[in-house]
Amino acid sequence: MKKNPFGARLEEFRSLVVSKGLDAAIVSKPANVRALTGVECDCAMLLVAAKRTIFFTDFRYAPAVERLAPYLEIGDILKFRSKRPLTVKGCCFKKVGFESSISFSTFEKFKTLFPSAELIDVEGDVISLRSVKTPIEIDKIRKAAALNDEVWSIAQSKFKPGMTERDMARIIKHLMLDLGDGEAFETIVCIGENAAECHHVPDDTVWDGKKNILVDLGLKLDGYASDMTRNIIGPRPSKLYKKVYNLVLEANLRAIAAAKSGMTAAKLDKVARDFLKANGFSEAFGHSLGHGVGLEIHEAPTVSRRDKTCLKPGMVITIEPGVYLPGNLGVRIEDLVLITETGCEVLSSSAK
Ligand code: ZN
Ligand code: ZN
Repeated sequence: MKKNPFGARLEEFRSLVVSKGLDAAIVSKPANVRALTGVECDCAMLLVAAKRTIFFTDFRYAPAVERLAPYLEIGDILKFRSKRPLTVKGCCFKKVGFESSISFSTFEKFKTLFPSAELIDVEGDVISLRSVKTPIEIDKIRKAAALNDEVWSIAQSKFKPGMTERDMARIIKHLMLDLGDGEAFETIVCIGENAAECHHVPDDTVWDGKKNILVDLGLKLDGYASDMTRNIIGPRPSKLYKKVYNLVLEANLRAIAAAKSGMTAAKLDKVARDFLKANGFSEAFGHSLGHGVGLEIHEAPTVSRRDKTCLKPGMVITIEPGVYLPGNLGVRIEDLVLITETGCEVLSSSAK
């Protein structure tokens, strides 16, 4: 019989639920549900108790869940829409785990479903389990990153003077639909000084063939994201641009060389931040060094000054130092890396 590809993660989550003294936990965020069951469904309430796992969904999805995941017990989600307390054979609900990012109305509903229960946030536990990828997930992210490299290589050959940022973003979007499942996030294209806005929305700025361009792109494949930022350097970059570019590249390379399991995310952030600070650009690097990538483009851990998470083998994170000088220029160099036992493996292979 077909087995849950994420069975080990589900069992680890169940152990956490039990060790916290909870009677059950309800997981409904699609990425969390998929990471525990292998099933993509935006209409699910996954109940995880000591001895039972029930995938509550409705008649639109139940046949597909049954076919794709015969290892799951299916329940009718109408039970979650009823005004009566939830009853499940063999379960009592005195302490129930939930995800704190659910809507206020769902939270209110939970109070009706579990009238005498203490509701305890367990979202952080699922998110932390998700941050360490399984070999199947790593394989998917690796493929998404390789296709992202391919998109970037083709896209550059199609960029011509006279095109706008929106034209360039559209080229990338179409290539991602041809080669993968589309964009993992809205592609960012910044011509010249627009790159000083790190999340600039592509507009009608026209490329004169001379200005530098920053592009942040990520292709999605079978639910998994990739993420990379590269810069096209114009024929005559300013002295300042050259200086900034080389410093950001050095910060990126230093962080890649330092990344390894056992160090905290904050310590990795510090490697790049201290280097840019020592070179006079501490203020200009306003964001964190990186973030986890998986079913979502931004997930745990956050590679920031505040995140004390210990890096572990199997985590996939970005390393993306940047320097932004408003009205003048912006440079960010972003790679996707896999933390390994001995260091990290860079999954983005486009030239930088
Ligand atoms: Zn990015
Ligand atoms: Zn990123």
